[in-house]
Amino acid sequence: MATRRTPRPRVNAESIDPDADLITELAAHVPRRAMVVMAHPDDTEFACGGTVAVLCRDGWEVQIVVTTSGNKGTKDSEVTGQALAGVREEEQRRAAEILGACEPVFLGFPDGYIRNDDELRGLIVRQIRLHRPELVITWDGFRPGFNHRDHRLTGQATYDAIYPAADDHLYYPLDKEEGLAPHRPLAMLLAGTNEPDYDVDIEPVLRTKVRAVLAHVSQMGGRNEERLLQMWRERAQRERAVSAGEQPLEPVFRESFRKMLMRR
Ligand SMILES: [Zn+2]
Repeated sequence: MATRRTPRPRVNAESIDPDADLITELAAHVPRRAMVVMAHPDDTEFACGGTVAVLCRDGWEVQIVVTTSGNKGTKDSEVTGQALAGVREEEQRRAAEILGACEPVFLGFPDGYIRNDDELRGLIVRQIRLHRPELVITWDGFRPGFNHRDHRLTGQATYDAIYPAADDHLYYPLDKEEGLAPHRPLAMLLAGTNEPDYDVDIEPVLRTKVRAVLAHVSQMGGRNEERLLQMWRERAQRERAVSAGEQPLEPVFRESFRKMLMRR
């Protein structure tokens, strides 16, 4: 039986200072609970592993929900999808442990075939009602252009699960029988966006992010910590060079998102 959480009086978006740091503001006003909803094992670590490490360091409870088990992620013609899914789930568990997050939840849809349908939305709604996160991090499902369909549709399904479904008790009414009350998170951070307006400085947790990414051994092609750090350092330096005239004090290592406050 799932653990239930007691609903508390709500803090509305109006209580959050839009000019202050979002995560700091949330931590001051609402319970420190976050949920990451991603498409594949390793998405969390690459897209927001530093942010998850920062949240866990600062006392947040972070749930990771993965919609597929990444059972297409190989060029090895000898391996079966089922065997690969088992390997990748285990790698995701290890990575979550390194970041300090809770044991990941796998929704088990086949890699490459995600659909933003009633079934997927219902499973995400259930996780939201169960864990009652105030911050949800997912892919930017509305980003135009080149993108993995699982990322796009996982992002859209998560958004649709949050608004309106999870907070209206007539959606997925079986949850009510289990004692799960409606809930709407207060904020979202969308990863992989073309319109970033929020950065998290991940420099203090960089080594933790590297170790969590490297836990996905099947996807790493033999890269090690130094090689990965070197690649990220070069990319961060290129990014900093572009914006040097505008924001010389930007952190070198950061994760960027589009932020959204949800009305409730
Ligand atoms: Zn992915």
